[in-house]
Amino acid sequence: MLTAENIVFSRPYRTEKELSNIEAVLESGHVHGDGPFTAAATQKLKQISGAQNALLTTSCTHALEMSSLLLGLAPGDEVIMPSFTFPSAATAIALSGATPVFVDIDMTSGNIDVASAEQAITPRTKALSVVHYAGVAADMTSLLALSSEYGLPIIEDNAHGLGGQWQGRSLGTIGSVGTQSFHDTKNIHCGEGGALLVNDQSLMERAEMIREKGTDRSRFLRGQVDKYTWTDIGSSYLLSELNAAVLDSQLAEFDSVQAKRHAVWDAYAENLADWADDNGATLMHVPDDRQHTAHMFYILMPTHQDQMGLIAHLRTYGISAPFHYIPLDSSPGGLRYGRTPDACVASAEFSSRLVRLPLWAGLSTAQVDRVIDGVLGYAAVGRATMVA
Ligand SMILES: *Cc1c(COP(=O)(O)O)cnc(C)c1O
Repeated sequence: MLTAENIVFSRPYRTEKELSNIEAVLESGHVHGDGPFTAAATQKLKQISGAQNALLTTSCTHALEMSSLLLGLAPGDEVIMPSFTFPSAATAIALSGATPVFVDIDMTSGNIDVASAEQAITPRTKALSVVHYAGVAADMTSLLALSSEYGLPIIEDNAHGLGGQWQGRSLGTIGSVGTQSFHDTKNIHCGEGGALLVNDQSLMERAEMIREKGTDRSRFLRGQVDKYTWTDIGSSYLLSELNAAVLDSQLAEFDSVQAKRHAVWDAYAENLADWADDNGATLMHVPDDRQHTAHMFYILMPTHQDQMGLIAHLRTYGISAPFHYIPLDSSPGGLRYGRTPDACVASAEFSSRLVRLPLWAGLSTAQVDRVIDGVLGYAAVGRATMVA
């Protein structure tokens, strides 16, 4: 059945003040970074994330690069990270000359497997880089224990996790640094954008310089020095005020955006539970001590054949439901720049069984119902081999 209107996987959501904010920026004459909208959006981000220090950046990828510079990564150093994640976390390490070391994930969460991470630690290990996949916290109890036992700072790639919690603590504020993305595909978006949450206060002064071309311009703007100059290495990681204007409008509507996304997530979870049981599929799971962000709703199909089967079936309904993340340990970049102590079997399996359903704030109830009907109309063929 091919219906007239396709349901895309992700679509930017328009918030109320975006256009008027952009106009205000253009009329103000301050269109470059660090203007009033950057200040206002930063304030809102700090409130939502609970972070003490937040710096808006051009992307999450750039916030990850800043993290590498801040931690002083250099050739010979290693950073342990999950194989199953977005490439930015790895390339940010490789760009500094250090080596990303890929370890496997836990199948129940898609997050880094902490026992594998501990096994991969060597004298060269300088940090742990983790992602809170689908906005559900990684096993921070074990990661914090590892971090303190071996003296390794944690980088939290929190691109999926803005507003999420682990045991009452805000994601992105638990490690030394946290990174946010405001790319169009994320819950809060401004085209391209990101932020670095600087939780280790001792890193803040350098973080400001790294973001401002290695200069002490931030201190100059606050009147702390009477001229500014080149002080450290850095780059231009500031978000344009135009993007900040959109971001400020988006952050102002954070609660309502999240309520809309959670309504979609809850509808999928409720209506697909029995189907999942009957078909040997597993729906995304959120442990009791974690609050997720409704960034993603995923299904683990019983087999790769059923992953391909469900994706093709939904396509005939005009519904786009992709999988993602070719595990980094097997990717060309990973083979060239990384090291993989043990085969990342779970990462490969997770990637080969994953299906993600459309989830964005503007989805209508009718569209959500169509997605649910589409999934309910699929009967897994791989179940017998799994359950027998
Ligand atoms: C989207 C994403 C990134 C990259 O974000 P950009 O803002 O596009 O650079 C990094 N990590 C994860 C987990 C992501 O989902």
